[in-house]
Amino acid sequence: MDRVLWELSSSLVLFDIDGTLTRGAGPHHRAALENAVLQVTGIAATTDGIPVHGMLDRVILTLMLRAAGISDAEAQRVLPAAMDAAQDLYQTGVPDLRDKLCPGLPAILEELTQRGVVLALVTGNLTRIGWHKLLRAGIGHYFRFGAFGEMAPTRGDLAKMAVERARREGLIGSDARITLIGDAASDIQAARDAGVQSIAVRTGIAPIEELVAAGPDLLLEDLTRLDLAIV
Ligand SMILES: [Mg+2]
Repeated sequence: MDRVLWELSSSLVLFDIDGTLTRGAGPHHRAALENAVLQVTGIAATTDGIPVHGMLDRVILTLMLRAAGISDAEAQRVLPAAMDAAQDLYQTGVPDLRDKLCPGLPAILEELTQRGVVLALVTGNLTRIGWHKLLRAGIGHYFRFGAFGEMAPTRGDLAKMAVERARREGLIGSDARITLIGDAASDIQAARDAGVQSIAVRTGIAPIEELVAAGPDLLLEDLTRLDLAIV
């Protein structure tokens, strides 16, 4: 009779999306946020002038509403509808993004999966925007779950939420090695907040000085340089 061994994974790797898994994914994400605000408030708002890099979609929408002259109280009231609308709008018109994968993908995800590493997402994207983007990029199936932009106030909280979920669902053991990979200083800070190893990749738009200043445990040119032994 076969003996079945139930083994918890010894590693969890949390991935940011924009600039880490995909880049140059086109104007659709930005357009979805802008059109959502227009649809919900009737006011033309823009992401121009908002430092969206490494920022949560929920925060971006809040800043857009404020910049459009909407009061904070009204912004809080319309935010849920705007987030819903943005996610609906993003479901159509996004092209095939398989040629927008960052270097080393999807090979590295395949290799990590084969080694039994649990992969999940920690991203500022709203849930249905993030999943649809990864579906169009052909890599959604590698990720067990995600912590997304509307789920917590900060990226650090999202990272903690992802770690807790992996433990709660019994995907990893208590001594599992946990790593967060991202392209922005806010990813590095989030890893620190959650008490996990941080790896910064230079495939986004952050200047190297900014990444170095944030103090990642490791700074890589891109994911092709990832040594699988350290995650
Ligand atoms: Mg990013």
